[in-house]
Amino acid sequence: MNYKKLDFESNYFDLFEISDGIYAAISKKDSGSSVSSGFFDLGNYIIIFDTHIYPGAARDLINAVKDLYGKDSSFIINSHFHSDHLLGNCLFPESTPIISTPITLNKIKEVCYDHLKHFQETAEEEVKKRNEMLNADNPPFSKQEIYNDLEFYKYVTDPNFKIRLPDFLINNDLIINGTEKTVHLILKSSGHTDSDIIAYFPNEKICFMGDLLFADLDDSWAPSETGRFNAVNPPKLYEILESLIKKDIEIYVPGHGDLSTKNEVQMNMDFIKKYYLKE
Ligand SMILES: [Zn+2]
Repeated sequence: MNYKKLDFESNYFDLFEISDGIYAAISKKDSGSSVSSGFFDLGNYIIIFDTHIYPGAARDLINAVKDLYGKDSSFIINSHFHSDHLLGNCLFPESTPIISTPITLNKIKEVCYDHLKHFQETAEEEVKKRNEMLNADNPPFSKQEIYNDLEFYKYVTDPNFKIRLPDFLINNDLIINGTEKTVHLILKSSGHTDSDIIAYFPNEKICFMGDLLFADLDDSWAPSETGRFNAVNPPKLYEILESLIKKDIEIYVPGHGDLSTKNEVQMNMDFIKKYYLKE
């Protein structure tokens, strides 16, 4: 796997150039989030893939694009409706359109407003807890996570903070044919959610997977009261991964965790087989 870690300062993520003009923002282990996102320069368009849960991380994505290209991004993709991948939407100018599917839009309306309300209602108490942790001997979170959480609650309780909904809705795959690069936005239904978008670069052999892939999926995620694995249809997700592992792809950018290869895709398939597929 060929990639270069860039010298970009962020309290939220490390920035990697994984091919010329294709970047992955991988959350730092002590940041309080594990979301992976990224952006790509197609020549005439710069496109953001997912905007993180921490608005501060979205701000850093905006700054990374500005540092590298001296301009704003052209589009945003919301891979699916989970808040941890899109609360950062609102940091981007309203003139930057967001692409998702109609199902994702409806689910954001159904679910994410409630999440935001929950964050806002619990903010005062959570901020108090975080401030106490800063003075505690053995805080349960890292200092950086506590600072990131404090910044998060400041953002979401700002009266101007609102969830930004997708603008362009696609029902079918979409190929964006840039002047330098081509990306295929491919829709996958009934995998992680009822509707997920992946961003596939056939020439560069890269695929941004969203939450169809978790880099660290092991037995600790096994189905249980506290099990973390989240998929609306594991057998269908298995089929999706099986089709994607066969493609000529070298780097898979997961929705959570580090840059991945076919090894992690196989690990996800083995996990689903073990816990969800009948022999
Ligand atoms: Zn998700």
